[in-house]
This record gives sequence, structure tokens and C-alpha cells, in this order.
Amino acid sequence: MSVLAKSPWVVHFNCNSCNGCDIEFLACLCPTYDVERFGVVHVGNPKHADILVVTGSVNHRNARVLANVYQQMPSPKVVVACGVCTSSGGIFADCYNVLGGVDKFIPVDVFVPGCPPRPEAMIDGIVKAVGILAAKAKGIETPVADKPRITVSPSPKPVDETPAQEPDEVGAVK
Ligand code: SF4
Repeated sequence: MSVLAKSPWVVHFNCNSCNGCDIEFLACLCPTYDVERFGVVHVGNPKHADILVVTGSVNHRNARVLANVYQQMPSPKVVVACGVCTSSGGIFADCYNVLGGVDKFIPVDVFVPGCPPRPEAMIDGIVKAVGILAAKAKGIETPVADKPRITVSPSPKPVDETPAQEPDEVGAVK
């Protein structure tokens, strides 16, 4: 395993998330989950990062920013897409400004399913990314990530628009 993979530096980009995935990612960095035990260091500058953790869906405003963040990272680099929004747009998929999942704009190496994924699942994704980073550092070709089978969040129940019934003379609803 390369030196890079022993202490990968991770940058996080919130694409258009509801913040649920971001809170879970922050939990990974806290002492309870302690992702640093795998040598992972959280950094704020993509130019210093080996792994990009993305949350949320891509929209007209952030597509260029996402591509820019990715391009600023030195090679080899790995992308971990966390949450159903990153694979399909999730609950935001039908919004007028949403373009879809992250892999439409940058190559994704690991998808972490869930809405939001638990910190354990995110850490599992980052550990997988460490292995992929090591392979890339050796020049080994790595496959594109499989998308999770369930890519869209369940729709909310339709609202019952039946007009309320008028109470009769004794106050009972018919
Ligand atoms: S996957 Fe769920 S928790 Fe994560 S950003 Fe999308 S809606 Fe929020």
C-alpha cells in the first residue's frame, strides 16, 4: 500500500444537500466514529486532497463548481458520493434546477447508498476509497462505481384533497 493510501486527505463538498448527509459526515470525524484511526485527515483545500466526499445533487449553479473542485485535486484521486441524492438527485430529482447525480459531471469511484447513510456506511466507503487510491497510485485501472440499486428516495404520500364533510344537525360527520 502506498504512503498516500496510509494517510489519505479528504475534502468534503456539499453540492446541494439538505445537510442530513453532511451531519453524518461530520459524525465520522468526531471521536465516536473517529475516521482518523484509518489515517484520514479532513482538509479544506482540494489542492491538498486525495479523496473527494460529495453530498447532495447537482444543479445548474453548482455543476461548474463541482467540476472545478475535482479538477483542482492532484492525481491520483478518488471520489466518494454519499447519499441517494448523489446518485440520482434523490428527493430533489424533480426540482426545476436539478440536473441529477454527481456521476453526470465527474467520475465516481464509490457510491454510499442511504438517505442519509449512517456514519458506519460512510467510513466503509472511505476505506474502500483508500484501497482504490492505492491501486491508482500503482497505475492499476479501477472500475467505475456501481450505482446503488435503489436510487430514488420514496415519494411522500399523496395529500388527501377530499373536501371535509359538513357536520349534520347533531354534529356527527356523515
Ligand atoms: S441523501 Fe437524503 S439526507 Fe442526504 S442530502 Fe439527500 S435528502 Fe438529504
